[in-house]
Amino acid sequence: MTRLTLAHVTMRTLRFLAYFFLPSVAALAQPKKTTLERPTLVVGIVVDQMRADYLYRYYDKYTENGFKRLMREGFNCRNNHYHYAATYTGPGHAHIYSGSAPALSGITANDWYDRQMGRMVYCTEDTAATAVGNTSPAGKMSPRNLLVTTVTDQLKLATQGRSKVIGVALKDRGAILPAGHAANAAYWFDSKDGNWISSSYYLKDLPQWAKEFNGRRLPDQYNTQKWETLLPIDQYVESTADDNGFEGLLAGETKPVFPHGFAATMGLKYEELRTSPFGDLLTKEMALAAMKGENLGKGGQTDFLCVSFSSPDYIGHRFGTASIEVEDEYLRLDRVIADMLNAFDAQVGKGNYLVFLSADHGAADNPAYSQSMGIPAGSMEYAEINSVAKAALEQAFGPGDWIKRYFAQQFYLNLDLLREKKHTVSEAFQVIRLALLKKPGVLNVVNFHDLNAVPVPEQVLNLFRNVHHPNRSGDVYVVYEPGWLEGYRKGGTTHGTLFNYDTHVPLLFYGWGIKPGETVRRTHIADIAPTVSMLLRILQPNGTVGEPIGEVLK
Ligand code: ZN
Ligand code: ZN
Repeated sequence: MTRLTLAHVTMRTLRFLAYFFLPSVAALAQPKKTTLERPTLVVGIVVDQMRADYLYRYYDKYTENGFKRLMREGFNCRNNHYHYAATYTGPGHAHIYSGSAPALSGITANDWYDRQMGRMVYCTEDTAATAVGNTSPAGKMSPRNLLVTTVTDQLKLATQGRSKVIGVALKDRGAILPAGHAANAAYWFDSKDGNWISSSYYLKDLPQWAKEFNGRRLPDQYNTQKWETLLPIDQYVESTADDNGFEGLLAGETKPVFPHGFAATMGLKYEELRTSPFGDLLTKEMALAAMKGENLGKGGQTDFLCVSFSSPDYIGHRFGTASIEVEDEYLRLDRVIADMLNAFDAQVGKGNYLVFLSADHGAADNPAYSQSMGIPAGSMEYAEINSVAKAALEQAFGPGDWIKRYFAQQFYLNLDLLREKKHTVSEAFQVIRLALLKKPGVLNVVNFHDLNAVPVPEQVLNLFRNVHHPNRSGDVYVVYEPGWLEGYRKGGTTHGTLFNYDTHVPLLFYGWGIKPGETVRRTHIADIAPTVSMLLRILQPNGTVGEPIGEVLK
């Protein structure tokens, strides 16, 4: 006879109870059914020309709810850089969203010389497209020149097109390249009539919400208002005095000082509104109208809203990086971003949407301003460089149309003529190089066909390798010394170089799936699209060369 111990009794009781109250062993082995979780909405924000230091330069004057909300509750990649030597708007937007590089994407600059057509081509031009919303040539646009997919395209592919993708920016290229090839639509601002338009590439007609938005005629209201500083002007200690020689002028004004008005610029219709914080208000209102009109984030799959703020770039170009105008623009943009985050909270709920914020390039300081601080800098006229190279080639090879075009620091040589006269690109390169190296401000001249022809640091070599596209790039590339610009001798500034002030831009992730924190590890613009792809669990864009930023992911 088996002696029943206390342990036996307890086990029998437990088995008896388990029979009635616990699921079977087989059921226990079955994992609970789970479904794939994704954010309901992704919002990509590009701030055109935002340099990395602007997050901190004006930090004390930002609210808690704009940039600081993203920095405090999100993940901050503080050492994020461009990885190619063409820091312009078209390439910047293309590569934030594709994770690619100009060498693969074909977006080598805002414009390039097309050797077959014998003319300049704009990065988002499309002669087969027509405007939707008006009859302007400003609507003859599409993403057709972009040779790679974007993260927005991949989302469309992953959901059989059910995800909605919308791009919004004052600049056509700032709306079109992020939204990608498969977007529902991209919308941009036509400053001739003050309307937001699109192209026949996406749509036959503007949706009703967009027509209603245009019907509000916000640009007419803004054109009668003045741009005054948000805070008392003596508090702008992060910037130079309001009236100085480093700044350009708004049309119709005689001094670069506050308050700025737009009434005098009415001859240009709505053009000068771009160069003011009213451009950001207009962009925000349009983006939120699109979000509501298209019910973004509420359709049962992830939707994607791509917003680019173009006004910071226009204001930076006109007034320069140290101006009160740029500071005021960022203080106001901070409030605009706070408003947008509140609107996303209301639309889909805090925690349900993912935001990333970056910039398409940075900017140099105005050369005269740099010189006033003792920093080496200078300005070169575009025509001067071109004529020195032309004269040197004619002296070496005889009279001839040796240069087809000089643009974006690149010489497009007349390859047919060189062949006909039995000269090589290498010879032409040496002639141009020796002539240009005598010019103050020219650091180096590089042969795109033979990047090893002159010694260049490995890191810099990669910036050239990443930018060269055989059919869209020039043959010979001019590198100016740090701080040197082409043009802008009088006022304002520009961008486009491989130097730190142009490559170092903010990168913030916030919201769904994001772990709060920061890193000073060097990340690259090409890492953004693969990181977002990982969060969405979709295939990375086809030309991606970056890596997901693991620290960002929860
Ligand atoms: Zn730009
Ligand atoms: Zn620009």
